[in-house]
Amino acid sequence: AVRMEDVNKWYGSFHALKNINLTVGRGERIVICGPSGSGKSTMIRCINQLETIHSGRIIVDGHDLTAGGKNVDLIRQETGMVFQQFNLFPHMTVLENCTLAPMKVRGITKAEAEEIAMKFLRRVRIPEQAAKYPAQLSGGQQQRVAIARALCMNPKIMLFDEPTSALDPEMVKEVLDTMVDLANEGMTMLCVTHEMGFARSVADRVVFMDRGEILEVATPDTFFDAPQHERTRFFLGQIS
Ligand code: ATP
Ligand code: MG
Repeated sequence: AVRMEDVNKWYGSFHALKNINLTVGRGERIVICGPSGSGKSTMIRCINQLETIHSGRIIVDGHDLTAGGKNVDLIRQETGMVFQQFNLFPHMTVLENCTLAPMKVRGITKAEAEEIAMKFLRRVRIPEQAAKYPAQLSGGQQQRVAIARALCMNPKIMLFDEPTSALDPEMVKEVLDTMVDLANEGMTMLCVTHEMGFARSVADRVVFMDRGEILEVATPDTFFDAPQHERTRFFLGQIS
């Protein structure tokens, strides 16, 4: 569903992504990990066109992102993105957060959008919160709203950038459980996370990034039990 070919990105003179090659197949779950500053968020943001790349190609579901920018809106519709900070609209209810984009972009009626929104709010197990405002919810609930909101656009792939990092420990599990449910339903997922239990149980492949490069790509078993690269071993030693 997503293919990156020789992708390079600079911030000024800083080389943030170095010859990134990675394909996320349909239905595949990939977890990206690596030290702070290694380029994980940059890579996710490039896929979602929040950043532009300087060379290489990114192809999302057959659409070449580099072919002149006209695909930007399309890509944003087809990729659901969930950030560390929940980024909900504070002045809108949960339901309104979920119906805004589908009504605007897909041109469906309010009733249709609300029906879809309630379906996904049930799926993330907080339908009873629909009329509340984000500030009235816990962090874990807000993050589940963010996931439901992304799902309302019927994305082909879900991109997660450390979705549990800003949560209190007792709320991490409810968000991870939601992500496991999504994975079990066959959603294509690219997740930046340091939740290694999630990586082990859900990921088809784990990608290790360091200093703008992909150093290692492996199945969870190989990655955790027999990492090939010295820097991967060092990283795993630090976080476990
Ligand atoms: P973390 O684990 O801390 O979230 P990361 O792997 O997500 O780190 P990125 O946010 O992708 O790392 O950043 C990669 C590098 O690019 C860092 O050195 C960062 O300082 C730099 N960088 C990121 N965004 C910008 C920007 N807008 N302008 C300049 N440099 C940037
Ligand atoms: Mg990051």
